[in-house]
Amino acid sequence: MTAVAPVRRVVIAGAGQGGVHTAASLRRLGYDGDLTLVSAEPSLPYQRPPLSKTFLRDPDPAHIEFHDPAHYASLGIELVLGDPVSIVDRPAREIALGSGRVVPYDHLVLATGAHPRRITGLQCLRNVFHLHDRDSSVALGAQLREARSMLLVGGGFVGLEIASAAVDLGCAVTVVEQLPSILAHAVPPQVADFLYRRHRARGVRFHLQRSVSAFAVRGDRLDSVTTDDGTQIAADVVVVGIGSVPSTALAAQAGLPVDGGIVVDDRLRTEDPHVSAIGDGIRFPLDGAPVRLTSVQHAMDSARHAATQILGGDGAYRPVPWFWTDQAGVKVQMAGMPSAPHDRTEISTGPSGTFAVRHYQGDRFVGGATVGMPREHVAMRRDLAAVPAVP
Ligand SMILES: Cc1cc2nc3c(=O)[nH]c(=O)nc-3n(C[C@H](O)[C@H](O)[C@H](O)COP(=O)(O)OP(=O)(O)OC[C@H]3O[C@@H](n4cnc5c(N)ncnc54)[C@H](O)[C@@H]3O)c2cc1C
Repeated sequence: MTAVAPVRRVVIAGAGQGGVHTAASLRRLGYDGDLTLVSAEPSLPYQRPPLSKTFLRDPDPAHIEFHDPAHYASLGIELVLGDPVSIVDRPAREIALGSGRVVPYDHLVLATGAHPRRITGLQCLRNVFHLHDRDSSVALGAQLREARSMLLVGGGFVGLEIASAAVDLGCAVTVVEQLPSILAHAVPPQVADFLYRRHRARGVRFHLQRSVSAFAVRGDRLDSVTTDDGTQIAADVVVVGIGSVPSTALAAQAGLPVDGGIVVDDRLRTEDPHVSAIGDGIRFPLDGAPVRLTSVQHAMDSARHAATQILGGDGAYRPVPWFWTDQAGVKVQMAGMPSAPHDRTEISTGPSGTFAVRHYQGDRFVGGATVGMPREHVAMRRDLAAVPAVP
């Protein structure tokens, strides 16, 4: 039997929700070796959920940063800012940063997250936003506070949260969505319909089953768009919210398999036992099917799981997926995979218009969503945790 050398040097590429939590989990679990947390971004690591919500109105970095510099120092975490990992040399077991600095590792964690899907050709326009990072949220908030109108391309979670904030800031908001419903496949249809009606009651105008077919650009601004039925929509600010793409460039450079995300096993290991991957950027097996999750829950759970594995733990990563969104004045919480097949739906109602939707496949509870019912959401997560794994 070959003895496994103890891990004494861990490098984490990416200091978002997952990367920061991996570092903290390693220390919590007693790891006392070298720990280097590398961020491509120059700012202190921060949470992303507020970027499309409260931060648009109140862009105070202190409200979103995970920790101050002293916290990282107190945990013996070397935090490298604004210097991305550009090369992984797996045979040598070292990484090179953009600055040229080389850092050796015994174990490398890829926590590179995801980036927004873009509409080609619109990147350089001053009033077009693909919101993902702190700087784009600061710039978007500043423009929304001056704008009279906003156009949202895509009716997904992040975009509709921005639409909500824009209405609160006094903008007239128009949404173009190519599917017949907003949030299609992301929430039960009853919840999508409820949110649609709430947004409309707040003055948001929708063009459903329409896609954008032409753009009118003037100088460095987008003046208007034309939809496929010939409708022209002008707006001061345009937000493109058409989903995210896993950030797999570093994994690909390292020669690791990438297929709709960094491919990992149910222990969150890539095909290289010295490299794990976590968070928004991975594709992993859950109940027999490869999935990609993009949520704070998954970033945190996968971070904890990877830390345990690095320190010799065993066991499959089998999270209970959950997610929340704040929009149109309500909190909606989802539990389970939104796309899980189901053949039965139960709806229960609470006070003041609150309600919950539960999906079942036969007798098996597969997930659901709540509107303003946090206790029922917690019950759903507990019930899902009790459901045996699909063999
Ligand atoms: C606007 C917005 C709103 C959201 N709202 C919610 C919500 O309400 N609820 C919810 O559950 N989730 C929400 N999410 C999703 C949630 O924030 C993500 O699922 C979570 O941040 C994923 O964590 P992560 O560590 O995988 O990636 P991220 O937090 O994206 O961090 C990845 C980091 O890696 C860095 N990086 C990439 N490549 C390199 C490299 N080569 N070297 C060094 N660093 C690199 C990136 O710059 C980034 O800082 C939201 C996301 C956004 C963008």
